[in-house]
Amino acid sequence: MAEIQLRNVGKRWGSFVGVDNFDLTIADKEFLVLLGPSGCGKTTTMRMIAGLEDASEGDILIDGARVNDMEPKDRDVAMVFQSYALYPNMNVYENIRFPLKVRGIDPATHDEKVRRASAMVELDDFLHRKPAELSGGQRQRVALARAIVREPNVFLMDEPLSNLDAKLRVSTRAQIKNLSHELAVTTIYVTHDQIEAMTLADRVVIMKQGVVQQVGSPTDIYDEPANTFVASFIGNPAMNLVDGDVKGGVFRARNTEVQGLNAPDGPITLGFRAEDANVVESGGEINAPIYTQELLGDSTMVSVRIGGALVSVKADKTYRAEIDDQVSIHIHTDHCHLFDAQTGARLN
Ligand code: ATP
Repeated sequence: MAEIQLRNVGKRWGSFVGVDNFDLTIADKEFLVLLGPSGCGKTTTMRMIAGLEDASEGDILIDGARVNDMEPKDRDVAMVFQSYALYPNMNVYENIRFPLKVRGIDPATHDEKVRRASAMVELDDFLHRKPAELSGGQRQRVALARAIVREPNVFLMDEPLSNLDAKLRVSTRAQIKNLSHELAVTTIYVTHDQIEAMTLADRVVIMKQGVVQQVGSPTDIYDEPANTFVASFIGNPAMNLVDGDVKGGVFRARNTEVQGLNAPDGPITLGFRAEDANVVESGGEINAPIYTQELLGDSTMVSVRIGGALVSVKADKTYRAEIDDQVSIHIHTDHCHLFDAQTGARLN
């Protein structure tokens, strides 16, 4: 059982705020993903939970006990980093066993624990190899097994897939998801990859410049982003965002006119996802020249420029047109997102 509470946790270095007022309870067995661009404070938040960084303010509680002043080794958390930090002169078996030795766990139990952990990450056949004789993906699995073998209360994972190539990343991601289901241990996972966040998380925390922007299930965040930052960070392609003006329920921007919006008069940012629009013969809300088109296999992505914004919609895979050809785009207005033009905050 491990519930983690972060109560108004902050980290400052001089006047620079790395993490501001982080306030969240992470449920026992929850898989929480911290997501955001480089430098937004994800790693710092995790390092404070691990005890590798002191919090400048606020309280960190694990199972109700305040751990701010507790040594990392006493917090019963296991970390997996982007760099695997394996011992090069130990083989896989010894690397996985190492945490058991350090923690003084009864040696009679080591063999069974190492074999169970290595089987979970499918390394049974590699126990005698040295790290140098393994692929990147296998090394990362050793690092995972070394975290699993301790049977910790909490897993902290910092971009564990970022050194793997695209294909291995997908298969190792699936393995982590499966493992987390099997182990049912509270996990905090840091990434800047929104697909990893969407596929792994029970809940996602999106951060920007040290400040939490939104906390929610992947579906909540995808369907109702709290602001334009979240909207443009989640989803592939990113949500289309067009700046314009509303007058009498009609939104107008360059090459664009959308009727029947339930929005007050004035400037707003209109958002819609690629799947909530389609290319039509004529009479769509956007009529503009094609900026680019990309063949995706199952469909064709057609993009136009509206002012500074690139707007992308999916067309049939057989759709063919030339750059600069005029295209008409129909937006499914009941799926539109409205944002404050100044603050970017969600309006609907
Ligand atoms: P990345 O994805 O690049 O790892 P991150 O979201 O994990 O980024 P952090 O490593 O948490 O970001 O850093 C948050 C901010 O705090 C960054 O602007 C970073 O430069 C700053 N920072 C981190 N450590 C220190 C330090 N020891 N002294 C001063 N500033 C620091």
